[in-house]
Amino acid sequence: MKKPYDVVILGGGLAGLTLSLQLIKDKPSISILVLEKRSGNAPEAAHKVGESTVELGTHYLREVLDLKGYLEEKQLPKHGLRFFLSPHQKENIDKRVELGPRELLPVPSHQIDRGTFENDLIEIVKSKGVEVVLGAKVTDVLLDAQEKKTSYTIDNQEYNSSSLWVVDATGRNSFLKRKLKLKQDLDHGISSAWFRIKGEIDVDSWSENEDWSTYLEPGLRRLSTVHFMDAGYWVWFIPLASGNTSVGIVADPAIHPFDTYNKLDKAFDWFKANEPIVYKNLIDKKEDVLDFKVLKHFAHSCEKLYSTERWAITGESGLFLDPFYSPGTDFIALNNAFVGDLILRDLAGEDIHSRLKIFERTHYSLFENWIPIYQNKYKLWGKTQTMVLKIFWDWAVYWAVPTLLFTNKGYTDILVLRDLFAKKDAVGERFGRLSQQMQLLLLEWGEFDDKEFENRYVDPFDIHFLQGFHTGIDEQHSPKELVQKVKDNVLILEHIAVEMFKLMSHKIYGTSMDIKVDPYSMSLAKKPTEVSKGLSTNLKIKGDVSKMWFY
Ligand SMILES: Cc1cc2nc3c(=O)[nH]c(=O)nc-3n(C[C@H](O)[C@H](O)[C@H](O)COP(=O)(O)OP(=O)(O)OC[C@H]3O[C@@H](n4cnc5c(N)ncnc54)[C@H](O)[C@@H]3O)c2cc1C
Repeated sequence: MKKPYDVVILGGGLAGLTLSLQLIKDKPSISILVLEKRSGNAPEAAHKVGESTVELGTHYLREVLDLKGYLEEKQLPKHGLRFFLSPHQKENIDKRVELGPRELLPVPSHQIDRGTFENDLIEIVKSKGVEVVLGAKVTDVLLDAQEKKTSYTIDNQEYNSSSLWVVDATGRNSFLKRKLKLKQDLDHGISSAWFRIKGEIDVDSWSENEDWSTYLEPGLRRLSTVHFMDAGYWVWFIPLASGNTSVGIVADPAIHPFDTYNKLDKAFDWFKANEPIVYKNLIDKKEDVLDFKVLKHFAHSCEKLYSTERWAITGESGLFLDPFYSPGTDFIALNNAFVGDLILRDLAGEDIHSRLKIFERTHYSLFENWIPIYQNKYKLWGKTQTMVLKIFWDWAVYWAVPTLLFTNKGYTDILVLRDLFAKKDAVGERFGRLSQQMQLLLLEWGEFDDKEFENRYVDPFDIHFLQGFHTGIDEQHSPKELVQKVKDNVLILEHIAVEMFKLMSHKIYGTSMDIKVDPYSMSLAKKPTEVSKGLSTNLKIKGDVSKMWFY
């Protein structure tokens, strides 16, 4: 009888394949079977959605999985996220407030063709000893016994395999989540439609204003993930290495009902009404659309992700929130870091009970912290000043804490996690409260933000603290230094929050720019009064925040 595998992974998409690579890289003798229901090669350029990566997920792919060489050779470099605001100037791209990096970014990221990537990943993991079976549809898993039994069919013929661990990476099919009834709904109803179109689309050519179109090095705008936005929606453009372009709409149904864009013809009508410049530049290429896909209300959660009974859930099969800042691969990276650590320690005979609980708590608290970034916020997407503050704040938070912790392996270091989250007055808990407070503040401020702005370019790299947080991601620290660095960063975030608040309060209530503010209780509901134990002005941060302020 065949020896059981150490791990059977259900689903060979991004999460499953990268987990298998991570595990075999760390323990070459491990035995892994990946079961993937797709029978042949994935199509290039029109396979799955999720092509844009950001820093955390990119670090995972490049450094943890050692795919740097591969990504540089086979996929596109990315020129950050780019946002076109000023919805009153929809016809004139060169007049919209544009937010995005101008110069090449120090910390890289990529635009990934998911079909090519999955095909190549299969070859890479196979060459290292992972068994991948294509055309294998998982039909059942028995989890009760020490040896898990997975049943699957190939061409209607049934097969079984046994293993110590089973990891569900079946994406939206959510095999284990459904079987174990772990699904949790999320009150965030955004939906999406997307398609891939033949050929390159370069927004540089959408204006005859030469000063504007040559403001960035030719081609750099195209390499960004480009967002066009207004209340309730954003539209993406992502270039692919095949030379084609991914285009999508993500919208809040409270403002843009799903059935206004859920078919190709309707999506073009929707562009005509909501993003006329997109319509004008795509309508002649409608024949070149390669696919058209939709997903309704796709944010979801899951009651449990890891079990000492030796099963785990990773990737979109477990949790998914919102693609606005392209964090899908980030969550896969984090999830896989936790799962991989648990599996390898368990196989080495270590008791993983308390680790597992800490990892699960950490993962959920991170996810829950992320929810208010998007939930009930899509109405702000049309407010230019609010969005500049929000995007810079959200980036600052993302680079200063979660990404830094990930690149420094802090998420799998129990002592670091205890120091940050479990101690009395822990900085991690403060960080969570600060993030929530700022999202509430941005919502409050949005009610007062009633002015249109145009003709501005805002570069995150003109803001010193953003530049510092971004380049800081790549610095390696000892665990003790890492905890200190997070504490220092949270203090900077507190000052940023306070400086943003003071500008808002000054504009609404005429309060002094020198008042002390407590970042944990600030509110615009009524005229703020001075507090005795608040933060006073930090001149450097004040100068930085003033660069984001248009009023
Ligand atoms: C609108 C939208 C935009 C997005 N944009 C981005 C982005 O720009 N960047 C980003 O990082 N992320 C993005 N994401 C998220 C990204 O798509 C997901 O994070 C990612 O695709 C999830 O990968 P996965 O491996 O978990 O799932 P999948 O890639 O779906 O893989 C699951 C695999 O399991 C297989 N499978 C399913 N059932 C079975 C079965 N019974 N037996 C065997 N195999 C099975 C499937 O065939 C599939 O290959 C976006 C998501 C949405 C909805």
